[in-house]
Amino acid sequence: MRDCIFCKIVAGLAPAARVHEDELTVSFMDLFPASRGHLLVVPKRHFSDILGADEASLVRVAANSRRIALALKRALAPDGIGVHQLNGAAAGQTVFHYHMHLIPRRMGDPLGLHGRRQASELELAEVAALISEALLGIP
Ligand code: AMP
Ligand code: ZN
Repeated sequence: MRDCIFCKIVAGLAPAARVHEDELTVSFMDLFPASRGHLLVVPKRHFSDILGADEASLVRVAANSRRIALALKRALAPDGIGVHQLNGAAAGQTVFHYHMHLIPRRMGDPLGLHGRRQASELELAEVAALISEALLGIP
C-alpha cells in the first residue's frame, strides 16, 4: 500500500526502532509511546484491520506478542503488560494497517493507548536494544 506508514517501515522506506523481524512480521517501538517500552507487532502484509487479516499473520502476531511480552517483562520488569488492538476509527484506530500494541504498565499508570509526546530517536533506540537483548534469551 503506497501511502501506508507501516508498509513503508516494513519495506525499510521509513525509519523505526526495530526489535524483531521474521518472514511474516516486524516489531518496532511506537513513536508516541503510552509508556516506556510501548511497541507494535505488525504483519508484513497489509490488512486494514483484524477483519481482513489472514490466519498465518494473525497466528504469528499472537505468538510474537507473547514472546516479546516475555522480553518486556525481563527487560523492564513492569507490573503488567497491555496487549491491545483497535479496529476502525470509531474504536480509536489511527493507523489502518493491522497491528498489536504491547504496553508495559506500572501500577496506577493512566491506561490510554496513545502517548502525547513523540519519543526521541535515542530513547527509542535505547529501549529497543534492551528488549532485543532480552528477546535473545526467550525460546
Ligand atoms: P492505533 O491507534 O491502534 O492505530 O495505533 C497506531 C500507533 O502507531 C499509535 O500508537 C502511533 O503512535 C503509532 N505510530 C504512528 N506512526 C508511527 C511511526 N512512524 N512509527 C512508529 N509508530 C507509529
Ligand atoms: Zn500497510
